[in-house]
Amino acid sequence: MGKITVLDNNLANMIAAGEVIERPSSVLKELIENSLDANATVVEIAITDAGRTKIIVNDNGDGMDKDDALLAFKRHATSKIKSEFDLFRIKTLGFRGEALPSIASVSQVTMVTATGLSTGTQLEAFEDQIKSLDASSKKGTLITVSELFYNTPARLKYLKSDYVENANNLEIVSRLALGHPDVSFTFSIDDKLQFKTSGRGEQLEAIMQIYGHHVAKQMLPFAYKYPDFSFSGYLGKPDLAKSNRYYMITLMNGRHVYMPKIQAALIEAYRDFLPPSRFPFLIVNLTVDPALLDVNVHPSKREIRFTKETELKDALITVIPKALLGSSLIATPLNVAKTPQTYRQDREKIEVMSLLEPSPDGDKVINQHVEKRQSINLTALAQLAGTFILASSHDGGLVLIDQHAAMERINYEKYQALAMTDAYTSAPLVPIIIDMKPSEERLLTDEKIEILSKTGLVLKNFGPHTYQVVSIPVWASEIDERMYVTELVDQIIHQDNIDILKIRDDTIASKSCKRSLKANQKLTLLEMQTLIQRLLNTNNPYSCPHGRPTMISFTSYDLEKMFKRTGF
Ligand code: ADP
Ligand code: MG
Repeated sequence: MGKITVLDNNLANMIAAGEVIERPSSVLKELIENSLDANATVVEIAITDAGRTKIIVNDNGDGMDKDDALLAFKRHATSKIKSEFDLFRIKTLGFRGEALPSIASVSQVTMVTATGLSTGTQLEAFEDQIKSLDASSKKGTLITVSELFYNTPARLKYLKSDYVENANNLEIVSRLALGHPDVSFTFSIDDKLQFKTSGRGEQLEAIMQIYGHHVAKQMLPFAYKYPDFSFSGYLGKPDLAKSNRYYMITLMNGRHVYMPKIQAALIEAYRDFLPPSRFPFLIVNLTVDPALLDVNVHPSKREIRFTKETELKDALITVIPKALLGSSLIATPLNVAKTPQTYRQDREKIEVMSLLEPSPDGDKVINQHVEKRQSINLTALAQLAGTFILASSHDGGLVLIDQHAAMERINYEKYQALAMTDAYTSAPLVPIIIDMKPSEERLLTDEKIEILSKTGLVLKNFGPHTYQVVSIPVWASEIDERMYVTELVDQIIHQDNIDILKIRDDTIASKSCKRSLKANQKLTLLEMQTLIQRLLNTNNPYSCPHGRPTMISFTSYDLEKMFKRTGF
């Protein structure tokens, strides 16, 4: 008896914070959502030390009067819902009334707020104490969160490197900005501007301002209406594909949500357009009746339930491939991305590789993956400057093919297919011993050695600072076993956040580059036609593994326009 006590406020808030405030990006999410709920049209965000020391969110929204400002720090205090009825018709981003008290329980919070109608208020919340002062009456709210997790050392310790935390921060702020193109967002990290959106209401413009011109130009708009839901957004062309899912953005009524089944449907929708283990870059805005939605599944509101999920899934799988097929996926002179400077220099160093060298195994494997392809028919005409192949297309257009980029694509898919299907490993053909600098050896932890062994590369300590390769995937002999080992080891010791498939893919991409045909190599017409055919048989003939275009097309219309022959 007498064992139960009611927790004091501060402790209760800290426990709630455990669920809602996991890391700096959770603070950003809650504060920005509050600004949006308060009808802000300008939100300025700045953080230092990945948000550990300071997070500032400044908005020009409705603001609060002094009484509301004080109440806002109380648990379950919200202006957004009043009754059970409202809970099932939620139109705001927040409604639980938990964020501000939770944040204040694990940091030091200062808030300056004003409605524009009376004197403003400045509040300082620290350890369950709130101090208030009069402040400027400029409409809006400025919140500063300092020393996050100062009193929860376990949470603080659990935070990842600045690099990883900032990736999370950038992801959260970008998604909120994409979901609200009518609001101008400014985001700086350690005084360095990351992006600024104009708030003019165009999502494509926001995409351009956040990810750059290159990405915006490769986005195809799409839209679809159904009785219970509608969706619209931008589909990244296959060139933009990523090795992770971070750029698959789904917004439900402006809220960034995670719906595993919808994500699976989006991957399925792109299946015929991307090589295996690549993920699309896309932004899908879903609009549904809030009555069909349950947002109250998890305190962070990231997971939601939607009653028409199956119908939505089917619609996405039908509509997206059609939208992708309806557009030309070949780069046009106008939307070719700028080529990085280093490219030219790399080209000079590339080994020569005979075009007609037998390599049917890899091609065969690739061909099994190709199920559908728009029919493109190209006939080689000539070679330009020992670098580009000129070809005519079936509809009278001219296509320029970069022979090096084309070869890179062919080799990349060949090696990737081999890496995927051939799980066999064996001792290397020639024994491989690698020497390491002590500084590097320290980075090669047991954990990393274990990860390498999962890819078939087994290393054994072989005396001071030396390792012996015990086994290696058989396919690596296709490229260069020693280079494969040193590059994979080099990549893994310098990376925090290990995505072994990505590391392997990068290694394969760089190998494909080194083995590819260099510029200034004369080709016969037969060689050119063979190269084109092999390129067209790849999963993504339009770009090289580094995302540069392999071909540029001028349609007959483009040509006529350039010769000013249009109009008759
Ligand atoms: P919730 O957003 O779930 O209501 P919060 O703890 O995040 O709970 O915020 C509590 C209340 O404080 C909100 O309901 C809102 O009335 C007020 N508030 C918070 N931030 C702002 C802001 N930036 N501008 C205006 N009002 C705000
Ligand atoms: Mg809130």
